[in-house]
Amino acid sequence: MAGMRNYLAYQHPYTQDLQPTLYARYIDDIFFLWTHGKESLIKLHSDINKFHPTIKLTLDYSQLSVSFLDTCISIKDGHLSTSLYRKPTDNLTMLHFSSFHTKHIKTAIPYGQALRVHQICSDEEECDEHLEVLRDALIRTGYDAQLIDCQFRRVTARNCSDLLRRQTLAATDKVPFVVQYFPGAEKLRHVLRDLQHIINEDEHLAKTFPTPPLLTFKQTPNLKQIIVCSKLPSSQDNSIQPCHGRRCKTCQSVDTDTAITRGDTSHLVHGRYSCDSANVVYLIRCRQGCPETWYIGETEQRLRQRMNGHHTTINRQEGSLPVGEHFSSSGHSTLDLQVTLL
Ligand SMILES: [Zn+2]
Ligand SMILES: [Zn+2]
Repeated sequence: MAGMRNYLAYQHPYTQDLQPTLYARYIDDIFFLWTHGKESLIKLHSDINKFHPTIKLTLDYSQLSVSFLDTCISIKDGHLSTSLYRKPTDNLTMLHFSSFHTKHIKTAIPYGQALRVHQICSDEEECDEHLEVLRDALIRTGYDAQLIDCQFRRVTARNCSDLLRRQTLAATDKVPFVVQYFPGAEKLRHVLRDLQHIINEDEHLAKTFPTPPLLTFKQTPNLKQIIVCSKLPSSQDNSIQPCHGRRCKTCQSVDTDTAITRGDTSHLVHGRYSCDSANVVYLIRCRQGCPETWYIGETEQRLRQRMNGHHTTINRQEGSLPVGEHFSSSGHSTLDLQVTLL
């Protein structure tokens, strides 16, 4: 009996004189029964590892028991017996009962976990031992003992050979009714059922929706989804927009182009900004295209407030300040201000 783990999947035309009695593979885990002795097994392993320089398999074999995925397979009285295998690091962490999830998810967890134990353990005694460990873990995770026992009974009442048969979910032609989950959302099921008669009254609708829709819950955004963004910002996410504030004098000066070019060099603005943005570096140019007018400033204020300051220097014709000097010169006014954020 042997288990192998390969680090890279690789297909190779391969023939060996000696073949395993049983061969099973799940992604990169292989399980097989070897009846030709230890020496030939070691040789097989070394042959396989010569296939390809990047494919290396580790061999784990025993005449008594090996683990494969979450199963521990042993030879007992000339028969194969299976039991649940848990990694030594597995501390049976499950969704806490107080977690914000629908009730059916919380009942499905004890059921699903017990089902797995029942399916895997061929020995009844071992099954009970594992169920006991699972029960303790569920209680530690806030599950009610009565709920656990009820779900466990549902599982143990089922025939083990039935459980091992592959099952396909029955297709439903019910129309899904999707809502974001909220406490009490389950009551919608009754509402939908009670209002079905309205649909039934209409000949056309009654044919299209013969039964109440299938109530389906969408997960509410969790902390991870709120805080973490796995998407890299694209250039479409960069923008400079007027704030459209009623009294904002800067909106009309805002240049919404996010690419700034001078000669051969160009600069792309990253992020989303408006006249409302604070702590910014900004660039003032002249709408008349005066080449010498590139004024770069930085401010902790909102751009709107800083620009109001510039408006004041222009209106007062303060020639000692560069912006005031240019935009109060002949043929210019504050309307020639063009501002963008860097
Ligand atoms: Zn504005
Ligand atoms: Zn100018």
